Amino acid sequence: MPVLVVGSVALDSVETPFGKAEEVLGGSATMFASSACHFGPVQLVGVVGSDYPLEKLEPLRAKGVDLAGLEQAEGESFRWRARYRHDLNSAETLETRLGVFSHFRPQIPEAFRNAPYVFLGNIDPRLQRDVLRQVARPKLVACDTMNFWIESRRADLLDLLGHVDLITLNDAEARQLTEEANLVKAARWIMARGPKHVVIKKGEHGAFLFSGDSIFFAPAYPLESIFDPTGAGDSFAGGFIGWLAATDDLSEANMRRAVVYGSAMGSFAVERFSNERTVALTLPEIDRRVAEFRQLVAFEHALDRAAEGAATPGAEPGEFGAGA
Ligand code: AMP
Repeated sequence: MPVLVVGSVALDSVETPFGKAEEVLGGSATMFASSACHFGPVQLVGVVGSDYPLEKLEPLRAKGVDLAGLEQAEGESFRWRARYRHDLNSAETLETRLGVFSHFRPQIPEAFRNAPYVFLGNIDPRLQRDVLRQVARPKLVACDTMNFWIESRRADLLDLLGHVDLITLNDAEARQLTEEANLVKAARWIMARGPKHVVIKKGEHGAFLFSGDSIFFAPAYPLESIFDPTGAGDSFAGGFIGWLAATDDLSEANMRRAVVYGSAMGSFAVERFSNERTVALTLPEIDRRVAEFRQLVAFEHALDRAAEGAATPGAEPGEFGAGA
């Protein structure tokens, strides 16, 4: 099942405690596509300026990303400059230059209008809304956003919430949007405004999936060296939506699996600058990391052992409230 993504296609300049990258491939749509392309076909819609090094997108095309919806307009490409200090969970935006994005009106090519899975990457929420007017009713519409838009386009973002099934955002953005310090309350606040599912990412502390009254949590992969957190969020979304589209299964159990695929893809993204790591991955590498996630949280409950008749100190059947 193809995934349609609309978002920024950028040139990023990023500084982390471990190095610097100037004018590298970036943007929400680019990062998402670099991750989702491993699971199935991706259709990308966005805009670049006349100064964009289009050859840098070739590896994406080679991985099956359809760039027919990428417009090249007269003017400067979108540029984002950011710095991460030792807290790698939060980027400090030094400069956002919208360039050709300030006049962009997404035109969804005819061939993309029936995409069953749609990801509205981080861009102006008015453009995200505009995309939904051009597509036939998809099976799942997910969106992302960030502080920049929560501050400058709050009303438009709240309007968008009424038209999406799922939103992904990080903990700071969830708090900023809802003005709730508690993330469970923040998720409820968002679900009351439309989305049936809310994914709240907590960087190196994992990610929550809220669906009605159910809550699922997946840890982040404990990497020893994190190089550049840029794109982790979009790569997470690429793994999450990519998995859902590939399996075409929106059951609760499969959504939980999707969170783990998302977490795996986010963990790859931070191992190198830009999309270098994600775009070059292979499926066996992804599957190996997913298996490691399973191992990470696998444990034997004392009650399981007690039920098997093992002598577990302090775990007599009926203890801990079970069946007592
Ligand atoms: P994340 O996956 O959350 O780390 O997003 C990183 C990407 O978001 C970078 O590659 C940036 O180019 C892009 N980005 C940063 N600010 C904005 C913005 N205001 N609108 C759209 N995209 C942005």
